[in-house]
Amino acid sequence: MKRVFSGIKPTGHLTLGNYLGAVQQWVEVDQHQADALFCVVDLHALTVDHDPARVRRLSRQAATLLLAAGLDPKLCTVFVQSHVDEHARLSYLMECVATDGEMRRMIQYKEKAARERERGGSVRLSLLTYPALMAADILAYGTDEVPVGEDQTQHVELARDLAVRFNQRYGHTFTVPKATPPKVAARVMNLQDPTSKMGKSDDSGPGIVYLLDEPEVMRKKVLRAVTDSHTDVVYDREARPGVANLLDILAACGGGDPEALSGTYTSYGALKKDAAEAVVELLRPLQERHKALCADPGYVDEVLRAAAEQARGMARPYVDAAYRAIGL
Ligand code: ADP
Repeated sequence: MKRVFSGIKPTGHLTLGNYLGAVQQWVEVDQHQADALFCVVDLHALTVDHDPARVRRLSRQAATLLLAAGLDPKLCTVFVQSHVDEHARLSYLMECVATDGEMRRMIQYKEKAARERERGGSVRLSLLTYPALMAADILAYGTDEVPVGEDQTQHVELARDLAVRFNQRYGHTFTVPKATPPKVAARVMNLQDPTSKMGKSDDSGPGIVYLLDEPEVMRKKVLRAVTDSHTDVVYDREARPGVANLLDILAACGGGDPEALSGTYTSYGALKKDAAEAVVELLRPLQERHKALCADPGYVDEVLRAAAEQARGMARPYVDAAYRAIGL
């Protein structure tokens, strides 16, 4: 059975982008067809200015939401990165295999570092080395596939490069992984600025649908989405990003095709209304299950404890082999 690994960062509340770009595929496809691990990557949340209590709270919330979304602990392993030491152990070896040039070329680093400097802040070294830790996350489990949104494919490419380089230089140790983005909504855009992605760490609330928003709030956000001055409904991600985003969201909620859907609408108003309802209906069961899980914290504790133990057992042989291969 193929091995799948993917992760989510507890830097903010989970969004519709996280759900449609990643979690939905984990729930509907990956946990059934693969030996799958899903990880709340809390170490990655320390790469930017953070509040310790908030990171802890958001990690717990993210893990609870993954279970609420339908990841089943009987089918897959849902765990928290910092509970498994092997990630940090292997990350250092990845830093010894990677070059500073390839780290600096990462788009996410360039964007986040620029934003941080604009604010007058300093850039943490871990923001630069983030892809080494992400490569370790993936390679520690002999991962074949990494289901992620398009924004993460560059990092998975780097993990591939590092696996190949390590294997060539020190002997075959790692499986070479590949990214598998979803076909629809691999990049959900901000509703108020459809040229930038809907990211959970941004502060632009009105453009972001959070998984735990009240249904009324979600509706309002979708109905107020920025479109353009045309009136006909055409699917064109370049020229008409706002409308294309709504079509992508609607299609991903109902499993349809965005281009085909565009032909069934004659006004932006009707499209927004249907997209809003589709989002509310999609997330209703998740919200109900989240509430039930929050009322049973002992269950979530036990799931995470058992999963961490299982993950540790899977990762240790790969990481031990890498330590031996590299000369330790
Ligand atoms: P974020 O950018 O919200 O902090 P993470 O880095 O935690 O997200 O990514 C978790 C998963 O969600 C990744 O697979 C990422 O590709 C996906 N993802 C995040 N934002 C979006 C988006 N706007 N559209 C599609 N997928 C997304």
